[in-house]
Amino acid sequence: MKPPFESWGRYPSYDATLKPLHWQGDFPAVLEGAHSGALAVGMGRSYGDVCLLNEGTLLPTTSMNRLLGFDAETGLLTAEAGITLAQILDFAVPRGYFLPVTPGTKYVTLGGAIANDIHGKNHHLAGTFGNHVTQFELVRSDGEQMHCSRTDNPDYYAATIGGLGLTGVITWAQLRLKPIVSRRIDFQGIQFHGIDEFLSLTQQAAHIEYTVSWIDVTSTGKNFMRGVFMQGDHSQVPAALKPSPKPKLVFPFELPGFALNRYTVGAFNTLYFHKQMKQRVSALQDYEPFFYPLDIAQHWNRMYGKRGLLQFQYVIPWEHAREGTIACLQEVAKSGLASFLAVLKVFGEVESPGLMSFPKPGITLALDFPIKPEKSFALFDRLASMTQEFGGRLYPAKDARMTAPQFQAFYPQWEKLARYKDPALTSGFWERVVGADGGAR
Ligand SMILES: Cc1cc2nc3c(=O)[nH]c(=O)nc-3n(C[C@H](O)[C@H](O)[C@H](O)COP(=O)(O)OP(=O)(O)OC[C@H]3O[C@@H](n4cnc5c(N)ncnc54)[C@H](O)[C@@H]3O)c2cc1C
Repeated sequence: MKPPFESWGRYPSYDATLKPLHWQGDFPAVLEGAHSGALAVGMGRSYGDVCLLNEGTLLPTTSMNRLLGFDAETGLLTAEAGITLAQILDFAVPRGYFLPVTPGTKYVTLGGAIANDIHGKNHHLAGTFGNHVTQFELVRSDGEQMHCSRTDNPDYYAATIGGLGLTGVITWAQLRLKPIVSRRIDFQGIQFHGIDEFLSLTQQAAHIEYTVSWIDVTSTGKNFMRGVFMQGDHSQVPAALKPSPKPKLVFPFELPGFALNRYTVGAFNTLYFHKQMKQRVSALQDYEPFFYPLDIAQHWNRMYGKRGLLQFQYVIPWEHAREGTIACLQEVAKSGLASFLAVLKVFGEVESPGLMSFPKPGITLALDFPIKPEKSFALFDRLASMTQEFGGRLYPAKDARMTAPQFQAFYPQWEKLARYKDPALTSGFWERVVGADGGAR
């Protein structure tokens, strides 16, 4: 039996029928005879149910991954939507180009990056992925092919960027890449203690292209909110632009559920904090470990055991960002649950063209926890309520828990998205936060 399509968190677990798209013309013909809803999916690197469907037809796109055009003068690359960012890098880096925005894994598709309007370590200067998508084709279930850009079908362009895969199937897209002369990043890692040191480092690094911080959420007292602030720019010293080697490590098996607990994660965090022996270190680092440290081992999500993991990511606007972040991290410390990967970052002012884009100016915090329903769900629900009280919102790409009233308060523009939604498409997420009628009006 074929394994079901899983999201990265492996929760929830659904059993939709899979009908892969191989060619741009496969949709909507592939839906013939299918009864319930459908959804195009990429690499399943979303953590929750935006890329899942119960009792419907999932349309994996990764075979639709051809490169369609590249202009070496402008850096404009056109490709089918199932191409991964890893494949784009393999092509572009030897030609002196890099992704304009990249998430913490390169194993996501172009279509998935647009549908969640992903952000990276350069959000404060470059905005979201959607800011760099010049045009794409959207195919609707009635067979209509729509060319979308800021001037052509601009409302569908906006609704599809961050549109959670609901407006149609993106068959191809054009992306503006950025020039580089080296694979290397001029990197600095700086230890900090507490939110004020984090905010001051952020301010000093406002002109630096990439910034992100790891924080130790297991420590309390004087070590509360200690972390490492990481910053970097593409090196301007020309050096060989080879493609990356293929990954060799695979996380081989599922760890038992108890393996990641407060003590093991706490020990890891202490080691990680002190891995950096000095308060400040500088290095010329290859872009792979800088952007994609977790990609070194494939299937690392198995580390969380069969039950999987939950991610939680909020953005809280500046007005309440400081107090909200402290309060949420105190809540995490109080819960006794340990997050392995806790990431803190500041979002900037660059506005996304996407209607439903997640980022807004303020602080974003991402945490992950192994699923232990009785404890982690309760913590997530408390954190989601706190996020709402502090005027923030949660990221659908990393969610499996927010309630319908929360989603509708976080994204009041959802009703507009519902107007552009394709009637044949839906997702586990959408049915959870809007209802099985899919927001039909
Ligand atoms: C280790 C790790 C680190 C990450 N770091 C970040 C980060 O730094 N920033 C960030 O923003 N995100 C981050 N993410 C989340 C990830 O970037 C997004 O969830 C991304 O959208 C996943 O892309 P995918 O190809 O796997 O799409 P999937 O997860 O399969 O699908 C995501 C959405 O895209 C839609 N979709 C996919 N293809 C198409 C298509 N052709 N047409 C229409 N809709 C389509 C799906 O319907 C779904 O709604 C991270 C994930 C992991 C696992």
